[in-house]
Amino acid sequence: MLEVKHLTKSYQKDKPALTDISFSVEPGNFLAIIGPSGAGKTTILRSLNQLIKDDDGQILLDGSDIRSDNKSQLRKHRRQIGMVFQNYNLVERLTVIENVLHGRLGYKSTLAGMFGIYSEEEKKEALELLDKVGLKDFALQRCSELSGGQKQRVGIARSLIQHPKVILCDEPIASLDPASSHTVMHLLKQLTIEFNIICVANLHQINLAKKYADRIVGIRQGKLVFDEESSMLSEEI
Ligand code: ADP
Ligand code: ADP
Repeated sequence: MLEVKHLTKSYQKDKPALTDISFSVEPGNFLAIIGPSGAGKTTILRSLNQLIKDDDGQILLDGSDIRSDNKSQLRKHRRQIGMVFQNYNLVERLTVIENVLHGRLGYKSTLAGMFGIYSEEEKKEALELLDKVGLKDFALQRCSELSGGQKQRVGIARSLIQHPKVILCDEPIASLDPASSHTVMHLLKQLTIEFNIICVANLHQINLAKKYADRIVGIRQGKLVFDEESSMLSEEI
């Protein structure tokens, strides 16, 4: 379980980006964070994997506070947290399967990783994940040949190869057309259940959040303004 308690962060003195944010998510659940630009959504996600240091509060992953981690504990925790990005962050000139295999954190610093050598077992797993995101037949294509929606599905497969407890998705559909947005949201929901992981996604689109997320947290000016099951949210929000 992921628990965020009283998270507070200021980039500049007397200008809080986040004030006293608390929420929690159980495995198998998809949480959407909704709010206008500048509300603090990215700051929350970056705190969750400690890309930035927050000022105060707790971030508990299965009971242990990742904020008090030393370096080696943080490395272990980061391995449990996969990332999905708005602009996919793929290596375009590499193949789809190579990009998925790149999701094995820490791998690139090994000798085998530097030469792009992977075991049959690893390749098999990457192919299984590509199958789950509907891209098995694209495994040997270069990522530069894919559509935006296909690239994001590669990004999702890459985030899953390290068997994370949590995936953090920063505006995963902001660059996609409506049809691809539905496909990606549907996949996130389905894989969250299938792998029993925690999925947290920053989104602009309240209608898609209501359709696919289990729970929605609303952020405005760094403050939590609602935290509701998506089915309970009224139409006008
Ligand atoms: P969102 O993701 O909802 O658009 P952000 O988390 O990016 O919001 O930003 C929240 C607030 O923090 C905004 O006022 C933004 O200007 C400020 N902010 C974000 N990143 C930085 C930074 N690196 N330095 C200073 N201020 C920042
Ligand atoms: P099994 O069929 O042996 O019960 P699972 O259903 O647990 O296996 O997993 C099926 C595939 O998904 C395997 O390739 C497995 O390595 C992979 N997998 C399992 N859990 C996760 C996870 N949390 N994230 C990513 N991949 C996973």
